[in-house]
Amino acid sequence: MRYINVAVPVPIRQVFTYVFECESSREQTPLIGKRLVVPFGHREVVGVCVEENVTPDHAALTNNDSAKTTNDAKTTEVRKVIELLDHIPCFSSELLTIAYWLSDYYQHPLGDVIATMMPASLRKPAKLDDVQEDCLILVDSDEENDVLLSPKQKSLYSLISSNNNLMTVRDIKQHYSSRIIKALIDKDIARRISVSKPRINWQSFLQQASTNQSKHVATIEQSIAIAAIEQANSFSAFLLEGITGSGKTEVYLQVLEKVLSDHKQVLILVPEIGLTPQTVERFAQRFGDIVVSMHSGLTNQQRLAVWHQARRGDKGIFIGTRSSVFLPFHNLGMVIVDEEHDESYKQQDGLRYHARDLAIYRAKSLNIPIVMGSATPSLETLFNARTGKYHYLTMTKRTGGAVLPSQHLLNLNGLSLQSGIATGLLEKVQQQLELGNQVLFFVNRRGYAPALQCHQCGHVVECDGCGAPMTMHMSTNNLQCHRCGYANRIPNKCSECGSQELISHGIGTEKLEQFLDYYFSPYKSVRIDSDSVRSKQAFAMMLEDIHANKYQLLVGTQILSKGHHFPNVTLAIILNIDSLLFSGDYRAAERIGQLVTQLSGRAGRANKKGEVWLQTHQPGHPLLQDLLNNGYTHYSRSLLEERKAANLPPFSYLSLLRTETQVAEIGIEFLQYARSMLTQFSNATVIGPLPSLIEKKQRRYRYQLLIKCHSRKYLHAMFAQVLHELEKHKGANKIRWHLDMFPTDIS
Ligand code: ADP
Ligand code: ZN
Ligand code: ZN
Repeated sequence: MRYINVAVPVPIRQVFTYVFECESSREQTPLIGKRLVVPFGHREVVGVCVEENVTPDHAALTNNDSAKTTNDAKTTEVRKVIELLDHIPCFSSELLTIAYWLSDYYQHPLGDVIATMMPASLRKPAKLDDVQEDCLILVDSDEENDVLLSPKQKSLYSLISSNNNLMTVRDIKQHYSSRIIKALIDKDIARRISVSKPRINWQSFLQQASTNQSKHVATIEQSIAIAAIEQANSFSAFLLEGITGSGKTEVYLQVLEKVLSDHKQVLILVPEIGLTPQTVERFAQRFGDIVVSMHSGLTNQQRLAVWHQARRGDKGIFIGTRSSVFLPFHNLGMVIVDEEHDESYKQQDGLRYHARDLAIYRAKSLNIPIVMGSATPSLETLFNARTGKYHYLTMTKRTGGAVLPSQHLLNLNGLSLQSGIATGLLEKVQQQLELGNQVLFFVNRRGYAPALQCHQCGHVVECDGCGAPMTMHMSTNNLQCHRCGYANRIPNKCSECGSQELISHGIGTEKLEQFLDYYFSPYKSVRIDSDSVRSKQAFAMMLEDIHANKYQLLVGTQILSKGHHFPNVTLAIILNIDSLLFSGDYRAAERIGQLVTQLSGRAGRANKKGEVWLQTHQPGHPLLQDLLNNGYTHYSRSLLEERKAANLPPFSYLSLLRTETQVAEIGIEFLQYARSMLTQFSNATVIGPLPSLIEKKQRRYRYQLLIKCHSRKYLHAMFAQVLHELEKHKGANKIRWHLDMFPTDIS
């Protein structure tokens, strides 16, 4: 009888005890980290064994609990494992440690953490058919074996156990004879199994990389960064703050060579691969076939394939978005987080983890270096670089003599506008077009116009569920709610007064594109927003056409700011910066600085000098003044001072407890109950319940508590206690609520 604890994919903060009764010797190997099919309530689920040899006493107790929560028969009997799915643990001890850390750090149920970490295919009750190469696996990692073994056998035993209990016979035979292997098997200490484990021919890839044509001779700034990073052979966190075009990617490429020469793998986190296909291409061009990328466009099958490649060690460089941070690396040697400030690293539902923060934890526990690069580092990372927690590296020059564009504010007050653009700027656009250059326009709204209003009675068409104005889209000929995605026909008369005079308000990307096409004909415009770049292929084609100068006017949203090189763009116009300036979110200023700086970074990449114009009704605004006169480096340091004065993150920690309920009072009442418990902790400040910035979404009212504290540990301890109580509240299972331990978005 083996009693084990299993993490089950349910939102309950505990593990469940089961009994494992299997006779065959194969199944006597350690179970920790392996997937099992277990009964849960009336279902069968795939869980992961997280503890072995638990005492039946404790077991019975837990099971009782589980019976209650799952409405199961009221029995104290420990239920049986139905099936063991894995030979090799899906969760190595390293990954299990991460799971526990995540569960604690984000106060999220372990079972759900573990499910989030697995590729979808592994959440299904299917065995891994991954069987090819001859391996030796330890049957029992019991210390008592010591007495049975000769010194040589003992040494082999510890070698295998330091390799996650599994090694290929081929590897073992380099140091040990067949006789010793056989002895371990005969003594029932190890067993032979087959696993697939193709090999990388590292030498040939390295050869290829170091002689590759695309490799540049490093500039002085690059050399300093490369040398600093290469010196680190244990955990070290680097912030590489380099302006756009300063050659950060080239630094990554060169430091990788050393890691790969130690036959170690590299993880490169990127915000959104679909949007920056050329990054992957650059790595593939330099290192060839050992590069693999993982992004949202992959099928479950393809994701599983990458998962295997990471685990078997048959690829060397893994480029991927957020969830790649969970890959089961065979031998990870370095992590790179590109554009570390990007908000897509934070998951906004379920397990609300931050991939960059987890990457740091992982690098630390594996004792390997991590490099975070950005032209506009987040204030958290800057703070850590300033306090000496991270090594700070900087690159201030563009390679190849290109210069950063000059930035200007355009005071809109009293100026005449055409489709939101000042007439004076239109002339500048014309000049650039005539010189054969491209012009970029940023609008923060996709669609045609952000609102549709009745000219007779003033009624604005709103989404029923969210109470927000609906955006007009001409390309799909409908009205869309940008909060919930609800779409409707464009009405031909006002629902309130019947008037047919409906007018659109404001400017979206579609309207601007249409205007530019008409105004600057025969020059052509192209729109780049999430509507137009639905598919990766379409986007790649669009980029190609832009580079081939088929379009001269580029209109787009934030997507435009993400890492593209538009060498021919000499003028960039940011239409409505004011709409971003007055936000209730304390991070708004940081985001504006990043957006403006990144957008500016798109212009004047090659040997052409660029200009950036920000249209504003607030030309004297101190934020804009600081950003434009002093640049992001200065601006971000000023913002840090402001955060310090206001005692906001990173000088304090914030947590967010939010309800989303159809009846507002129910949410408020729940939050008040939470508040009454949280205010007992004297070292934290509790703000709320207050409506969220987005007060209503999909017929639900959104309310929140903000909890502010000087210590992360204290917050953890607080919630560890409070959540337990909160979950006993009568509403806890009925209403929609969640805790975001370290939110990046409090809207
Ligand atoms: P970043 O990632 O900082 O935006 P990149 O690494 O993409 O910068 O470099 C910008 C451009 O400069 C690229 O076209 C790259 O090929 C080129 N480049 C990078 N390093 C060098 C160098 N040392 N010498 C010449 N060109 C370089
Ligand atoms: Zn009307
Ligand atoms: Zn809506």
